Amino acid sequence: MAGVALAVTMTGCGVSTQQEIEMGQQYAAQINQQLPIIQDPELNRNINVLGDSIAHLTARTDITDWHFYIVDSKEVNAFAVPGGFVYVNRGLIERTTNMSQLAGVLGHEIGHVVRRHSIQQMQSAQKANIGVTLACVLTRVCESQAAQAAINVGGTALFAKFSRTDEQEADAEGVQNTVRAGISPEGIPEMFQILVNERQRSPSSVEGWFATHPMEEDRIAATSAMIKRIDPAVLRTLTRDTQNYHSFVQRIRSLPPSPPPKNGG
Ligand SMILES: [Zn+2]
Repeated sequence: MAGVALAVTMTGCGVSTQQEIEMGQQYAAQINQQLPIIQDPELNRNINVLGDSIAHLTARTDITDWHFYIVDSKEVNAFAVPGGFVYVNRGLIERTTNMSQLAGVLGHEIGHVVRRHSIQQMQSAQKANIGVTLACVLTRVCESQAAQAAINVGGTALFAKFSRTDEQEADAEGVQNTVRAGISPEGIPEMFQILVNERQRSPSSVEGWFATHPMEEDRIAATSAMIKRIDPAVLRTLTRDTQNYHSFVQRIRSLPPSPPPKNGG
């Protein structure tokens, strides 16, 4: 019943930080039940240290607890849930080649949370797909069917359909968020390029990513242009890579193969 009340309040007026976090917690609990989350403490510590170093310097000082999870899936994907819950697939991490690329992905997903894109979408969801699905998932009114459908595609159904503007904002956030954390933003266009190349080689493995992150080459150009505007003297001081990152990726690669997707898809 508490969940239903929350949903009603949400649609009626603005969503407070407290509500946003509660919503995120409920949704994350569902996701964590449905998706194979990597439990390795060292890997989790690593991704959370990197994620926190970026997230804690953003404008969302009202979110004190951020949570970063690695999904044990070979598909390339990443998504964020309101309130500060960020998920990155193992398959994406394994395709990065330096720390700044992984940081860029985190910076982008953190950016969606910072700009409250999901919340805004929910509030303006007259077409209601996302709002209703979210309410279903959160309140369990629709019990598991809607939840399953949403979650089986890696959470993407829910937080998939960001507008082009939202994506541009998240890209810009990604650049700012990494720079603020002392990390080179050059990993962002680099990562896009890796994914574009991958799409040519093996389209199915990056399907999830491209479904949620419409990947036009102009995003490479746009983020590169933002980076060009950064003072080169500053850019030179930013970290591109760390030994920690490479140990982290090596440890992920050494895990047993990811389980097949539940849905067969
Ligand atoms: Zn995005």
